[in-house]
Amino acid sequence: MSKDFRKKISILGSTGSIGTQALEVIESMGDKFEIIALAGGSNTELLEVQAKKFKPRYVCCGEDELERVCSDRENDMILVACSGKIGLKPTLTAIENGIDIALANKETLVMAGEIVMEAARKNNVRILPVDSEHSAIYQCIRGCCDCAAAAVDFSSVAKIIITASGGPFLNMSEAEIARSSADDALKHPRWNMGQKITIDSATLMNKGLEVIEAHHLFGLPYEKIDVVIHPQSIIHSAVEFLDGSILAQMGVPSMHIPIQFALTYPERFEGIKSGSFNFFEHSLAFEKPDFKKFPCLELAYKAGRIGGTMPTVLNAANEAAVGEFLAGKITIDKIFKIVETQMARHNPVLNPTLDEIFEIDKLTREAVVVQC
Ligand code: MG
Repeated sequence: MSKDFRKKISILGSTGSIGTQALEVIESMGDKFEIIALAGGSNTELLEVQAKKFKPRYVCCGEDELERVCSDRENDMILVACSGKIGLKPTLTAIENGIDIALANKETLVMAGEIVMEAARKNNVRILPVDSEHSAIYQCIRGCCDCAAAAVDFSSVAKIIITASGGPFLNMSEAEIARSSADDALKHPRWNMGQKITIDSATLMNKGLEVIEAHHLFGLPYEKIDVVIHPQSIIHSAVEFLDGSILAQMGVPSMHIPIQFALTYPERFEGIKSGSFNFFEHSLAFEKPDFKKFPCLELAYKAGRIGGTMPTVLNAANEAAVGEFLAGKITIDKIFKIVETQMARHNPVLNPTLDEIFEIDKLTREAVVVQC
């Protein structure tokens, strides 16, 4: 642990769930971080409070300003914590400017994983996952090889095991799930997160997006990515190596830990302590995911295997359908049907350009609104 650790950082999405928790982590570490920019969305009141407290060099509250933040080479790192597709272009800008990324935005890799990872390799930029599962896998791999550079050696990995809490509907029947309201779906048993991701956790689409994210981040084929339901959320994910040895990363479910790991990488500091884990208070259970009850997970594997623009369609159709559900226009079981229909209608483009990705994203969202 070095005493002179100091990082200059900007946060995209500082007023969201990850953004506010990242600022708590930063605050807990005294003067280790200097904030270059804070960028928020519609919650300008909170953004103002944050600006007064953390005194960034500049504050942004518009999508167009994100590019400016990400081309400022003063930054050592950008935390991409905004939700949805607006994270993609600024992330690429930061990579092109050689700035490391702490990535909390799944859509960036789901929509354009090949383009983003290729840019990171070319510019020798680290993409540090903030998602708890990917952080867990990263930490397990780091325990066995030097993965400081963008290129990580995964040749000794047999498979990765992504854990899922199962969400609020784990023990409900299909009929009970279909009758559930947005309020029911927003009651996540383990993690405190934003609305969109909480609905995705209820349908297990979140896990599906994480499988695609893992495929790109770690360069592994889909047959080497397993999902295991683990309701206690103590094991955050695991890696099985060729010799049969399994490394798992565990701890109390707190987003502060993976956020802090990404921000302080490659070092570790005390930061916000979530308390020591008491082994005598927990028993850990594991079960197979029920693809029939949670068909979104299977759709995500399917979209990922097809590749090209199919994951873009999966993501756009899902995001639009979740919006319709939150607005009370459809029941939750329709989300899967909408995504399935949009995928069936789509003729995937392999190796798409960014423009093609954005165009397909837009057309899919429009089609979902018509479908509802
Ligand atoms: Mg996660």
